[in-house]
Amino acid sequence: MKKVNSPLIGKNLTDLKEICEKHGVESFRAKQLFNWLYSNDIKDFNDLTNLPKVFINILKLDHCIHPLEFVQSTKSNSELTNKFLFKTRSGSLIESVLMNEGNRVTLCLSTQVGCALDCKFCATAKMGFKENLNSGEILDQYLLIRQKVKKPITNIVFMGMGEPFLNYKNVIKAAHLLHSPDGINMSTKRITISTAGVIDKIKRFTKEKEKFKLAISLNGTTNEQRSLIMPITLKNSLDDLLDASKKYTESSKRWLTFEYVLLKERNDTVEDANRLITLLTEIQRCKLNVIPYNEIDGEFQRPNQNQIQTFMNKLRSARFPVTIRWSKGTDIDAGCGQLAIKNNSM
Ligand code: SF4
Repeated sequence: MKKVNSPLIGKNLTDLKEICEKHGVESFRAKQLFNWLYSNDIKDFNDLTNLPKVFINILKLDHCIHPLEFVQSTKSNSELTNKFLFKTRSGSLIESVLMNEGNRVTLCLSTQVGCALDCKFCATAKMGFKENLNSGEILDQYLLIRQKVKKPITNIVFMGMGEPFLNYKNVIKAAHLLHSPDGINMSTKRITISTAGVIDKIKRFTKEKEKFKLAISLNGTTNEQRSLIMPITLKNSLDDLLDASKKYTESSKRWLTFEYVLLKERNDTVEDANRLITLLTEIQRCKLNVIPYNEIDGEFQRPNQNQIQTFMNKLRSARFPVTIRWSKGTDIDAGCGQLAIKNNSM
């Protein structure tokens, strides 16, 4: 049977020190290797120019560099959004989306192949759940795209395919690797993890005092209404979610963002806007992003312009900041909730 080498991307300093120790290599080489892997755009072992040949030969025995293979990229008509397709070593396909807005360049990373949460408005949900991505597969989307684009990537959102908090360990490890000052050195303020509301993991995130930004996809103003749109509500009730959110902001003293996908005749009434004001006023340091729905082939529609305006006008009296976000890249199915691999084999 052919031996499968494990990729080095995704390993943290502790993992690399263990590799050095196993082969009797001085531990300072681990830090050098870490720096090479994450601070430089390397393709293969030939790019590791200042590491001893003997060390590289040891690494080559059991390892390769990248866990992902680039397949293709597609640009939106505006050229401001770019969708990237990658293949994992198990043969699954995943997508990442790069969005340009002035000097801000945001990369949206996938964390799972498909998703089990079955949010009714989401294209990824239609794929079902296939597998979790490991930390290397999550981080390599960033590293391979960084090699291909001219402008520096300024922000990361874990908001692509999958529910990040159902792959908690690998997502948090990838986020720490993005933040590590010895490598990519991205500020925690520029890294956002977005969840559909996995309450036990919100509590863990709070308890472990993670400094990354947190966003919660709310999308409903009563338990019943939200359950119809997001079945996760059946086991993670709206009340409990808001309670965990409140405790997060109180304990962390950080801002929390609620995302609200606006769906015609499902959650777009004046009563919904009023309920949102009541529910979120309870939570210190929160803001609300309203996202008019990007239609996919399904049962949901975007409200018309008048309805969106009426909803937004009502929210003007809210004591928390409210913004409207029009997804970019909808012409290439790269908008919020549109990511899905139509045929997961290539
Ligand atoms: S919206 Fe997010 S959590 Fe919900 S099904 Fe889609 S990918 Fe999963």
